[in-house]
Amino acid sequence: MNKDTLELSAEEMRSYGYSIVDTVVEHFHTQREKQPNASGTREEMDTLFLEEAPEKSSDPQEVLDFVVEKVMKKSAIPSHPKAFSFVPGPSNYISAMADTLATGFNIFGGGWSQSPPAAELEIVTISWLLKIFGFPVKKGGGIFTSGGSMANLTAIVTARRVKCGDDFSKAVIYLSDQAHSSNIKALRIIGFLKEQIRLIPTDSEFKFSTIKLKSAIARDRLEGYQPFCVIATAGTTNTGTVDPLGDISKICKAEDLWFHIDGAYGGAAILAKNGKQLLKGISKADSLTVDPHKWFFQPYEMGCLLIRHHKHLKSTFVEKPEYLRDIEGNESEINFYDHGVQLTRRFRALKFYISIKTFGLKAFRNAITYNIEIAEKTERFLRKSAKWEVVSPATLAIINFRFNPIGNSYSEKQLDALNQKISGAVMDSREAQLVTTVLNGQVVLRMCLINPRTTFQDVKDTLALCERFASEIEG
Ligand SMILES: *Cc1c(COP(=O)(O)O)cnc(C)c1O
Repeated sequence: MNKDTLELSAEEMRSYGYSIVDTVVEHFHTQREKQPNASGTREEMDTLFLEEAPEKSSDPQEVLDFVVEKVMKKSAIPSHPKAFSFVPGPSNYISAMADTLATGFNIFGGGWSQSPPAAELEIVTISWLLKIFGFPVKKGGGIFTSGGSMANLTAIVTARRVKCGDDFSKAVIYLSDQAHSSNIKALRIIGFLKEQIRLIPTDSEFKFSTIKLKSAIARDRLEGYQPFCVIATAGTTNTGTVDPLGDISKICKAEDLWFHIDGAYGGAAILAKNGKQLLKGISKADSLTVDPHKWFFQPYEMGCLLIRHHKHLKSTFVEKPEYLRDIEGNESEINFYDHGVQLTRRFRALKFYISIKTFGLKAFRNAITYNIEIAEKTERFLRKSAKWEVVSPATLAIINFRFNPIGNSYSEKQLDALNQKISGAVMDSREAQLVTTVLNGQVVLRMCLINPRTTFQDVKDTLALCERFASEIEG
């Protein structure tokens, strides 16, 4: 180890790297036998890690061993077959290695001149996505981001710039009460006031109510506001619900509003036949967020914004500082730092490119189809049982249900408490990750089944575990 240059010898690098690869391979191979949940208080973590930054060096392997044992093995496993909560992260090994490769070469993904192939691969993979979602490939464009939150922020800034220019003091945006919180966060970041945000209530199926949307727009126009954008969701995080995209698109057209679709969760379902029908109308958006680190099976961090008119990204984000003037290049050679927030950015396109080249798009289609079907199978299984109630049907691989045996005399409050306790007991058992959400004021259990390694047996085992805990709680 040469501390003056922060270098290891070739031999040291190899054994260090191999040891990491061995650890990751072991993780991939044994995750099914491990527990998906993490736990640890701040106090416990402080005891493990809190220290002054060490001035002195340590043995590389010793530090690594410590990290593997105490950090990696004490974290939740988002790709575990029984990680059902939130949106799981069923990553894949090829993409994980691609990230390692991109980091190893420390490729700068900001501008054309520093890596023409990196910029080109972003153009190519974005154009794959444009085609998949029925966007115009020639005029369309997009950018990879850290995640869906950053993609939504990028979209909203672009929409505001295009529709309102510099004066957005009267600008108003519409989204449903089931829209993802990242949109609200984005609006806060860009300085919108409460009066500029309209949260439109959803209907009984958790869909954007277009009647209420229309009347809100009309009222705002009368009051001198400037409606400029509607955000619909293609696969809400709670229930997988897809808003009426076609109808909303018509309203946006008639009212000259920017139509953004947040498909961070559900967008990938377009690759499956049964998903594509549900997502009808998605190609009508002015901009669309998808999140490859969710249902495209990529490791964190990878989000994506697709846009109908590529030129709008550049006109929104371009700045020309003097120190970048030598690397301008020509129009067709895209500098992605001109298309979004980040200047220095990692080479995200690589993992997407290499995993689709390796497995083929068909494998992704099959995996997503399988995910949608296993959720539907779970719904049928629950409906046959006298103990369970399906609260929202399997939609884009998400299902919500609660323990509510036929003939019981529980009050709503007792049912809420019971289901909360069932989830708590499952989490404490660490056998599965299954947390609750709230729908129509009811506490429900929610399964998000986007892991192609999850078997129906995994689902049944988890439900059986729930029933066992339920009978213990009922005493
Ligand atoms: C997850 C999610 C987001 C946020 O994406 P991140 O990648 O977590 O930043 C936005 N919208 C929806 C619908 C989501 O499910």
